[in-house]
Amino acid sequence: MNSSNPSYLIVGAGVFGVSTAYHLIQKYPNASVTLIDRDAYDAESRVAASWDWNKVVRADYDDKIYCRLALEAQEIFKSDPLWQPFFHQTGVYWTCRSDYAQNVINNHKELGRNDDIIALPVAEARKLYGGVFDNADYTGVKEVLVNRASGWAAAGDSLRAITKRCIELGVKYITAEVATLEFDGRGSCTGVTTKSGEVVSATKVIVAAGAFTPTLLEWSAAKSGNAGLRAGERILAAGITTGMAQLNEEQYTKYKDMPVGFQGYTPDEGKSYTMTHSKPFIGSIPPTKDGEMKWWGSKIFTNTREVLPGRHISSPPPTHDYNQWKVPGPLKQDIVESRNLWYGPKSADWNMTKHRICWDAFTTSSDFIISPHSASKGLYVATCGSFHGYKFFPVLGKYITQMIEGELESELVEKWAWDRQRPDSSQNVEYPNAEMKHLLQPAAKL
Ligand SMILES: Cc1cc2nc3c(=O)[nH]c(=O)nc-3n(C[C@H](O)[C@H](O)[C@H](O)COP(=O)(O)OP(=O)(O)OC[C@H]3O[C@@H](n4cnc5c(N)ncnc54)[C@H](O)[C@@H]3O)c2cc1C
Repeated sequence: MNSSNPSYLIVGAGVFGVSTAYHLIQKYPNASVTLIDRDAYDAESRVAASWDWNKVVRADYDDKIYCRLALEAQEIFKSDPLWQPFFHQTGVYWTCRSDYAQNVINNHKELGRNDDIIALPVAEARKLYGGVFDNADYTGVKEVLVNRASGWAAAGDSLRAITKRCIELGVKYITAEVATLEFDGRGSCTGVTTKSGEVVSATKVIVAAGAFTPTLLEWSAAKSGNAGLRAGERILAAGITTGMAQLNEEQYTKYKDMPVGFQGYTPDEGKSYTMTHSKPFIGSIPPTKDGEMKWWGSKIFTNTREVLPGRHISSPPPTHDYNQWKVPGPLKQDIVESRNLWYGPKSADWNMTKHRICWDAFTTSSDFIISPHSASKGLYVATCGSFHGYKFFPVLGKYITQMIEGELESELVEKWAWDRQRPDSSQNVEYPNAEMKHLLQPAAKL
């Protein structure tokens, strides 16, 4: 195949990769579009951050661009029969310690939206939804943002369904671990080699490998001798713990109509503890129909390890499943603390069941990277969900396709560029703040 008849190889079948395949195959029904992932799309367990029990789908952004894109994605979740079954419009309840609520409301107004979105004083807000959040932490809260248009989605189920649809439309799905990218004599990317030595070729290679992206680029840089392939400071792989409680019938009846809860802390509050005790924003996702309520923890951690002799970067643990189900005690405790920030002592005897460590790729600004790679022709990068990428699943591929075709609007080109000036992480309350091993073995207090 030549560039007038392109073929597409997408490494990674999370939301960035699958959305790209879905948009490409609809635009070019006869094109060769291949997804390659270490896990089968319908596997019982997958490492993808996108493969999760559930995720928040909200358009409550103080960044106008993500606000606009989230509204666009949410419309699809609400109206398209492919996505609709996975979306639950429960609303969002967001404790704000800054001007966040007003900024979000202003964005919605400027974008011409008329959703049911309000900011309420704490005393009024805590009476809502039958007082389910009456025991939450309201220290320093200025007001509570309530947006009844937001909600959550069954993430893993939607990923499986949309991937299945891609396959029905003609996308090829290969289950294999990619060992390195392949290049021709001029440094253009021509495909990948799998761990078992199979070469898969394409004219356009899109790396959407989430948290594993920096490691794959390191390996590819070493193999090709092109050091410019490395992610360097651009991408940081980091993990966060999630956990579920199995509610009993009485608890389920009480909480089943609750909204998604967000505890919004400011960078100063969030980082004013210690490296190992900072608080980003903490969420509580309503119970599924099986009565499972979910939280994510406050500790967002790196795992710096030697991925090649002498090359130390943060990377998920080097096992097939990233050790995602081996959740140590201190990280389980992190979930208990998140739970308590919402429900206080009344939740002390709740039955905490499932725990998982979920790995994602971060940038200091939490902006995605959706960009040609500047060190190789034919190579594109689409990742860095930075803990908020899932909700854009229906539209990510539209913008990634525009990027591949050089048609992305200039504001997005700049925001998502591989090479751009990025701020330091000090104002980013979500940015990874500790090494996993330090969280597990705290240094002795002298
Ligand atoms: C705990 C947690 C909670 C979150 N909550 C929310 C939320 O509520 N709302 C929201 O919008 N977002 C949320 N996010 C963020 C969101 O889940 C991610 O930003 C998004 O899913 C990232 O998608 P991705 O496609 O980049 O990566 P992934 O979903 O991780 O997919 C990457 C894929 O690449 C594959 N891969 C990697 N390396 C290789 C290789 N060498 N060979 C073959 N395959 C490979 C992996 O198997 C994986 O399937 C959350 C993230 C986490 C971790």
